[in-house]
Amino acid sequence: MEVKGGGIKLSFWDNLPKFRKFTERLQKIFSFSKVDDEFLEELETEFIQNDLGLSLTNEILNEIKKRKISDPEELRDFLLDFLLKLFENLDLKLSLDSDKLNIVVFLGVNGTGKTSAVGKMAYYLKNNGYFPIIAAADTFRAAAIDQIKVWGERVGVDVIAQKEGADPASVVYNAIEASLARDKNVLLVDTAGRMHTKSNLLEELKKIERVIEKTLGYSAKENLVVIDATLGQNVIKQVETFNNAVELTGVVLTKLDGTAKGGVILNVVKSFNIPVKFVSIGEDKDDLEPFDPKEFIESFLPRLES
Ligand code: GDP
Repeated sequence: MEVKGGGIKLSFWDNLPKFRKFTERLQKIFSFSKVDDEFLEELETEFIQNDLGLSLTNEILNEIKKRKISDPEELRDFLLDFLLKLFENLDLKLSLDSDKLNIVVFLGVNGTGKTSAVGKMAYYLKNNGYFPIIAAADTFRAAAIDQIKVWGERVGVDVIAQKEGADPASVVYNAIEASLARDKNVLLVDTAGRMHTKSNLLEELKKIERVIEKTLGYSAKENLVVIDATLGQNVIKQVETFNNAVELTGVVLTKLDGTAKGGVILNVVKSFNIPVKFVSIGEDKDDLEPFDPKEFIESFLPRLES
């Protein structure tokens, strides 16, 4: 990580030109000498436009007024503290056991970047001392099976697949057997993401859960929902749907390179109390980053010279 002249750490967030626009606009607001009504109005507009959501924005604004914060620097410190608290008690790391096969199920609507996220996660895990393998359980479209196979080849990770239309739970069963036979310790499951047939999806996910529990005697370690940061408020509905189907353990937020609106991270965490565990910032195999709330919040809050 680089260190800028003033001793400020730069993170990958600083290299996302679209996301920087949010920071620049906040910087402009914070250049006001005093936190007055105009300041707060502009801050409110910025937070809403940035997909922090009404409820969180109102809560922040009310707290600022209650505390009678008038100094921009004090406000910055308050915001850092307040936003960091959203992540308190949330397990941001992938929860993986060292001594048994871990199952990580990926859920999400088509087009959000789910399949790519599985590929990138396999690459990340491989580079971090794990032995991953992939189950192509999105059997709804032949293209999805081909696509995950391409990712497997790209990152050098085995993909267990069957034909289009096969029972996803049977793919998972095969993949568990292959994982055990090949001494793999993390099985990444790419599931189908058909929002319009919610009940089928729910049944399919429940069946996958049953197969995992029956075969291994324990459930999946992680159920990660993949959401697209460029979709703004729509992601809230998507998370809700999947959260009703399975017990979500985390979020992977994709396409952060394509939006100035990273605030949706805060909205999701506030709405569901589920941690964002990884963020994707591009289409390459190494574009998946573990999410660090402090780094994220510090990257958009203005850097005030005292
Ligand atoms: P799926 O249908 O949810 O499995 O989505 P895919 O993995 O096929 O991704 C859909 C499209 O989004 C593809 O063109 C990906 O290359 C692209 N994509 C995925 N993640 C990112 C990301 O973080 N940034 C950008 N710019 N594109 C992404």
